[in-house]
Amino acid sequence: MARNPHYDPSLPHHRPGGFQNVEVPFEPKTLGEVLRWRWDAARQSLPHPPRTPIPQQAPDLDFIHRNATAGGAMRPAVTWIGHATALMQCSGVNVLTDPIFSHRASPLRFAGPQRHQPPGLALRELPRIDLVLVSHNHYDHLDDASARALHTQPGGPPQFVVPLGLKAWFAARGIRSVVELDWWQTHSLRGPKGPVDVVLVPAQHWSARGLGDRMATLWGGFAVFGPDCHWFYAGDTAYSREFSRMRESFALRQSGAQGGGFDLALLPIGSYEPRWFMAGQHVNVEEALQIHRDLGAKRSLGVHWGTFALTDEPLDEPPQRLARLGLAQGLAEDEFFVLPIGGTQRLAARDATRDAKML
Ligand code: ZN
Ligand code: ZN
Repeated sequence: MARNPHYDPSLPHHRPGGFQNVEVPFEPKTLGEVLRWRWDAARQSLPHPPRTPIPQQAPDLDFIHRNATAGGAMRPAVTWIGHATALMQCSGVNVLTDPIFSHRASPLRFAGPQRHQPPGLALRELPRIDLVLVSHNHYDHLDDASARALHTQPGGPPQFVVPLGLKAWFAARGIRSVVELDWWQTHSLRGPKGPVDVVLVPAQHWSARGLGDRMATLWGGFAVFGPDCHWFYAGDTAYSREFSRMRESFALRQSGAQGGGFDLALLPIGSYEPRWFMAGQHVNVEEALQIHRDLGAKRSLGVHWGTFALTDEPLDEPPQRLARLGLAQGLAEDEFFVLPIGGTQRLAARDATRDAKML
């Protein structure tokens, strides 16, 4: 295994050859286990095709573009583009999470998981993106063609923020506007209403793009703190106690007087079956609900579903389970919601005046 140039022996997730989860080390499945999963799935023809169409709607391009250039008057809003790709507009900054606009989540153009439907916004329909957050290097989260296209967007390249070790992947494509973060490190950018802090937070997951680079680069999620909105994006993750720890770590900046917890968390709700194979790397809906509570998020949006059939559950199952469980657990209506692909949800702005009084 190649040497990890970032290796710091004092950090529990660092290894001389890469990175590791702190709570439960990721154990790659054996070839036998992979074959057993694929064999079982093939025998039962899994995943079964969705019984209901994945909801889609034409994007409100007029709102999205006016909002994108509104500066300090930007209304906090999230638009789901598909899978884990979302456009988050708040505090005057246009942010994309894990952009994938390609037909396949794969290193190959002719094989690998295909999109069930086109992205909710095409690349050419996007407003100018200021910031791109990449959670890890799996093909459904870090897409070559999408990164290149965003780099050459009209108006200049966005700032990419990525976990440790991924800068080289961008540099190999001539993309230099990249900041690498370790877990708990912050990148601050200046928004029209004040600083926006982007913190890379732990996720219980793994990384690999090829055969010889497993765990070589870091993975994670993001906590974003702007004057108008505190939001969270989990990336890919299994359930862990890290989410309760994050709430404790951020308690100082999220006190009731400062507007409380995350205004929105983007949490994965798909790619969970079969549990014996997936539980160490992807939450199921029950666990996503637990993360929503652990974080103390005011609202959550379910992502990472309905787009690429990567696992054994039907593509339309996650929101059905979410609706059932949310009801059973007494969640307020729309507290943990999903959007149609292309759909936008406007969010209440954080009470910045209270923020200012506290300072
Ligand atoms: Zn992944
Ligand atoms: Zn994924």
